Amino acid sequence: MNLPQMFGENVFNDQVQKETLPSEVYKLLRATIESGKPLDVSIAGTVASAMKKWAVSKGATHYTHWFQPLTGLTAEKHDSFIEPEGDKVIMRLTGKSLIVGEPDASSFPSGGSRATYMARGYTAWDPTSPAFVKEGTLYIPTIFVSYTGETLDKKSPLLRSMTAIDKQAKRVLSLFGKTCKKVSTTVGPEQEYFLIDEDVYEKRKDLKLCGRTLFGAPVTRGQELEDHYFGMLKPRIVEYMHDLDKELWSFGILSKTKHNEVAPAQHEMAPVFGTTNVAVDHNMLTMEIMKKVAHKHHLACLLHEKPFRGINGSGKHNNWSLSTDSGFNLLNPGDEPESNTLFKLTLAAVIKSVDDYQGILRASVASAGNDHRLGANEAPPAIISIYLGDQLGALVDSIINDKNYVPVKAEKGSIGVPESPIFPKDATDRNRTSPFAFTGNKFEFRMLGSQANVADANIVLNTIVADAFEQFADELEGKADIGKAADAIIKRELKAHRRIIFNEDGYGPEWEPEAMRRGLLNNKNTADAVPVCFEEKNIDVFVRQGVYTKEEAVARADIQLENYTKTINIEALTMLEMVKRDIIPAVSDYVADLCANVAAKKAVCEEIPCTGEKEVIMQLSTLNDEVSALVTKLEGLLAGIDMSDVSGASQAMAHKVIPLMEEMRSKVDKMETLTSSDYWPYPTYYDMLYSVN
Ligand code: ADP
Ligand code: MG
Repeated sequence: MNLPQMFGENVFNDQVQKETLPSEVYKLLRATIESGKPLDVSIAGTVASAMKKWAVSKGATHYTHWFQPLTGLTAEKHDSFIEPEGDKVIMRLTGKSLIVGEPDASSFPSGGSRATYMARGYTAWDPTSPAFVKEGTLYIPTIFVSYTGETLDKKSPLLRSMTAIDKQAKRVLSLFGKTCKKVSTTVGPEQEYFLIDEDVYEKRKDLKLCGRTLFGAPVTRGQELEDHYFGMLKPRIVEYMHDLDKELWSFGILSKTKHNEVAPAQHEMAPVFGTTNVAVDHNMLTMEIMKKVAHKHHLACLLHEKPFRGINGSGKHNNWSLSTDSGFNLLNPGDEPESNTLFKLTLAAVIKSVDDYQGILRASVASAGNDHRLGANEAPPAIISIYLGDQLGALVDSIINDKNYVPVKAEKGSIGVPESPIFPKDATDRNRTSPFAFTGNKFEFRMLGSQANVADANIVLNTIVADAFEQFADELEGKADIGKAADAIIKRELKAHRRIIFNEDGYGPEWEPEAMRRGLLNNKNTADAVPVCFEEKNIDVFVRQGVYTKEEAVARADIQLENYTKTINIEALTMLEMVKRDIIPAVSDYVADLCANVAAKKAVCEEIPCTGEKEVIMQLSTLNDEVSALVTKLEGLLAGIDMSDVSGASQAMAHKVIPLMEEMRSKVDKMETLTSSDYWPYPTYYDMLYSVN
């Protein structure tokens, strides 16, 4: 394999554009991509025809506008290139077909922002994310908007948020004498996932329908030996990862690191970071490819946040920073952060906005799946706080308290082995328990769920930081001494928002009460986290930054609650189906056989002991009755929920349905431990977690 040669071979990237487009057209297209100049529509025809020619040379027969509706997934509708010409057909992609598409919008969620009779929705080309060929189809990344201009996807608000932060960051930069064409936020999402054998997967209805196990007694060996993290990769996993990398690279995705994660059967892939909208597209593509490649290896890739109880769940660390087009990173502290005013101002903007808008930031990562991680005694907690590390912590401390700053310099480390080289130690240590940690020259937002579209969190991050920059720029412009005025802002904001900074252990029992004292939010589930999005202040920031209209902001929160409610409903129904049709009958059969055995023993001789069997018969029969009663209760509860009342339904799901499901699960898991494995209808946790060699 010639890696440099095959890297990006399926992508209509800069190099291909340069080779296939007339130089004038190429320049105009690059101007749009690199500095955000409005697209010159007259070039669309030429670009389309070059794109088609290239795609056909890669075996493509179809093209699709590829978009990210509010379902959280991606959507595509394939059209072939063919056009009749006499008796024959020619392959054509017109400029218009490249630029706009018109899928029927009525079947995608819009949160009431678009009545279904106005079914018109348009997809529009996003030239800043490159097109690619996959499985015989040319994929054109697009945004998705309604006839009346409301956004119906995750991509358009993301692009708007990038425009907002670009505009405000440039204002701030110019006050410090720095000019640039464009400021972009960059994102590197680390993706966690589980791999299990496909045969085992196929036998679990809950995994297939809900992505997670709804039942399952804990396995005797979980992650307590801490031997899986960074552990040796099993041969089948090595082959999978190798194949995955090859696929990802062919789409220009910079898959960089791969390793085993903490839990058995859990792994991680980290890409090199990129511009946010491209990183989002790449992550969506990565998740899809992970599943497809798994299938090729007779594996199932689980992207759910919590496929298995009792062992770690999966998240997605969203590394976020912002840089100019020449590569100047605003979050790089440099050697002397204490005298780097621009850095300190950027830091203050992040701290201020994360504190002010902790509610919507928390809501942006809320989902039924992620509720099993956040606030469920698993990393990270549902409370948003910022970790700065020793160096920045001391700097911020000195600013707030008017103290002299004694630099915490990166030391030279030595490991006490003379042959081994001296290594420079990072000035920020790793803190794995913080939901939002400064890590060298970027922030790592660790609350995202593994199957989330990372657009959600980044829309919020970009918007709120843009808003803080705007306030700072408004205040600074026209001041005689910018440095002095900026120092005053930094001090004021750090003082005002110090409560959000927390440099200690986020998993410790002291943190929750401490956070409450500080007045920080602690919304543990989606039903309770999302409603903050309806608050005026939280809508206004989106409106001010031109990211959402009020209607769009409300519609999105509604859809999020609706997705949550529907997910829990599906889980509850799946649970009922499994219990009624598989588990209760299996347990009943086992008990019947045990009874027959007891009767047989007694028939031979009254004295043969059978206390063991009787004990199991007793326990299982009792549990079977209790579970049956819970079935009736849960069915009644679900029937009484009005799904059209999003807010009421989501509250009922969180506070009534889930507790009942918990109760049912704990009884069923108990039954599992008492039932002969010959009778149990599903693969166990052992079967699933240790299914791959
Ligand atoms: P680790 O977190 O394991 O120490 P790194 O800090 O090298 O690893 O990077 C973790 C992730 O952060 C990678 O996906 C990397 O591409 C991304 N990253 C590094 N620099 C930036 C940046 N400036 N902006 C966004 N993401 C970044
Ligand atoms: Mg990380």
